[in-house]
Amino acid sequence: MMHMNRYVSMVALSVLISIQKIPAQSRSENLVIVTLDGMRWQEIFGGADSALLSNKNFTRDSAGTRLKFWNDDIGKRRKNLFPFLWSTVAGQGQLYGNRWLGNDVNNANRYKFSYPGYNEIFTGYPDTAVNSNDTVLNKNINVLEFINKQAGFKNNVAAFTTWEVFPYILNKWRSNLYINSDKDTLPYTNEKFRLIDNIQSLTTRPIGVRPDILTYIAAREYMKEMKPRVLYIAFDETDDLAHAGMYDQYLESAHAEDRMLEDLWTYIQSAPQYKNKTTLMVTCDHGRGDNPKENWQHHGEKIFDAGQIWIAAIGPDTSPAGEMKNKGLLYQEQLAATFAKVLGFTFEANHPVAPPIESIYKK
Ligand SMILES: [Zn+2]
Repeated sequence: MMHMNRYVSMVALSVLISIQKIPAQSRSENLVIVTLDGMRWQEIFGGADSALLSNKNFTRDSAGTRLKFWNDDIGKRRKNLFPFLWSTVAGQGQLYGNRWLGNDVNNANRYKFSYPGYNEIFTGYPDTAVNSNDTVLNKNINVLEFINKQAGFKNNVAAFTTWEVFPYILNKWRSNLYINSDKDTLPYTNEKFRLIDNIQSLTTRPIGVRPDILTYIAAREYMKEMKPRVLYIAFDETDDLAHAGMYDQYLESAHAEDRMLEDLWTYIQSAPQYKNKTTLMVTCDHGRGDNPKENWQHHGEKIFDAGQIWIAAIGPDTSPAGEMKNKGLLYQEQLAATFAKVLGFTFEANHPVAPPIESIYKK
């Protein structure tokens, strides 16, 4: 019943709209998904937080960090932190989740931590039985394995993750997806792949897993070699650095991940297989607290505002609406069906699936 109530008005509205609209054909042939673990919407839409910047417990070098990321103007401030999101995506794509404007995106799961969040993103089902971060095989069918079974997509779906629990979340033993996680080496040997594997085996591991930059470079070079039609990249550093209370480092990682997104989009728009035929979607598994301010470090069931998230999208089927300013409420569970719809499929599974977000794939 919860499920019906959450979407009944939206369905009624979309029936009305669809009467006046010729159904649009999906033009996206490829899909790239990136997640920034525990990245708050407050920084996405507001840039660096002045209270956290001036708090010596969280920011060791306030002056230096301010110099890099602060601006009195909120538009310039958020662009200092996320130049790609606030130039290319804001100009040609869409950004959901600015709650100061009433544009809300929420976790539907009540746990507000990683495994339940990633399960919700990829299965479209906030299963209450998925409630720990342990290495438990996920029983729920995910949209990546669904796409991997469609004509033209078999063995064309790959995931690169920093966190070592993803093979369980995406159940690689059942889904047969190519998943490269933490210490995994690349699938075959050439000089370039050998170098990446070598750096990965010799690097420091400040947060106990490989640095996000190695997840990114492995994914990018795999993309160039293997040309997957669906690629998922899961970054991790923002969450770990926030738990550690290092606000300056959390900002640095967020900024570096934005630059990786820009680098990725530049490659996508330069390669004939991907150019103007690829949708990029970016989101997070959960938010973090903000009230009281010290709760920025934390998330989970007891942090009431940690279920507040955000979504960014850019691609040939996504209208250039920029920052979404309409009053609205979306849920993380809608992403799975949206990923499928972007490629022209309707995601079905062994569990309920929430409806897709039409405004992302219908121009
Ligand atoms: Zn966490």
